[in-house]
Amino acid sequence: MTGEELVARARAVAANAYAPYSNYFVGAAVVARDGRVFEGVNVENAAYPLGICAEKAAISCAVTDGCKPGDLEAIGITASPCGGCRQWLWEFRIDRVTFPNSAGEIVTYTPAELLPEAWELPE
Ligand SMILES: [Zn+2]
Repeated sequence: MTGEELVARARAVAANAYAPYSNYFVGAAVVARDGRVFEGVNVENAAYPLGICAEKAAISCAVTDGCKPGDLEAIGITASPCGGCRQWLWEFRIDRVTFPNSAGEIVTYTPAELLPEAWELPE
């Protein structure tokens, strides 16, 4: 599945976001190496910091279905991932991250490009 196809899936599911406070609807679709696709949307809360991003929701669905770091091949998002989500993308060793940039162009990066020198829990 291409990055563009994943962004299209993300755009389709974004309408389901629960975003009554920001009215900023975000979708994400992540494909596992075995072909399974997991979608997520942002889910806000009246206590603002408790909301979760679409990428985290999609990755959480994948984990619920048994996926581990390294099992996820690529993700498409309807917006540039926030800093916290970049740490999640790094943790799950996703190969490719595709989203529309601020100019509206579809771009693809690795998590390392999005978050250089990422933090890891010392062993
Ligand atoms: Zn985020």
